[in-house]
Amino acid sequence: MRMKLVGELRQRGIADQDVLHAMGEIPRHFFLDKAFEEWAYKDVPFPIESDQTISQPYTVAFQSSLLRVKKGDKILEVGTGSGYQASVLAEMGAKVYSIERQQKLYQITTKFLPSIGYGNIRLLLGDGYMGSERFAPFDKILVTAGATYVPDTLIQQLKIGGVLVIPVGDKVQKMLRITKVSKDEVKTENFGDFRFVPFLKGIN
Ligand code: SAH
Repeated sequence: MRMKLVGELRQRGIADQDVLHAMGEIPRHFFLDKAFEEWAYKDVPFPIESDQTISQPYTVAFQSSLLRVKKGDKILEVGTGSGYQASVLAEMGAKVYSIERQQKLYQITTKFLPSIGYGNIRLLLGDGYMGSERFAPFDKILVTAGATYVPDTLIQQLKIGGVLVIPVGDKVQKMLRITKVSKDEVKTENFGDFRFVPFLKGIN
């Protein structure tokens, strides 16, 4: 079923072999409640704890491709959720930090990810709008919730040449890839419409 999903992603235009390979390796059915295992390899988003969702596989593949992940990249993910996206980046050889604002989800992933071999992902509880001053600067930052604006803090926490992928918009979000070309200059590319759960302030 997993290989069939990877085939569907390829057909929908995902061309990054490293992304496809990583998604072919990771047991996505462990990230869903056991009762819903059969949903794990359909290309749809799915509800998880705390009224959040595990992003649709296509969206995970698309965002991961936009990041152009290289082995050893230091990446901050904002919105850990189930931990699936973080695992894809880790499987691709990145050094992953992931921040979540919901304590319940943070607690679940803190136990769960090491149990399936992703204990090297550094999980943080906090408000992703603030990024992580402690671990900055990053090569890449990936936001997996719908933001209403681009937080300047996240741009500041990028290395020069670094990349921020962030969906921005109210009900529908534009997928933006923002490259930090110099200390105070960015280049922005728009990759079309997506829908995400909202990027909220503060922790819960
Ligand atoms: N990447 C996740 C999907 C995330 S859904 C996965 O692979 O499963 C978006 C997540 O962003 C939710 O878990 C939500 O709680 C979290 N979130 C929303 N606003 C946030 C913020 N300000 N800081 C950190 N996490 C946030």
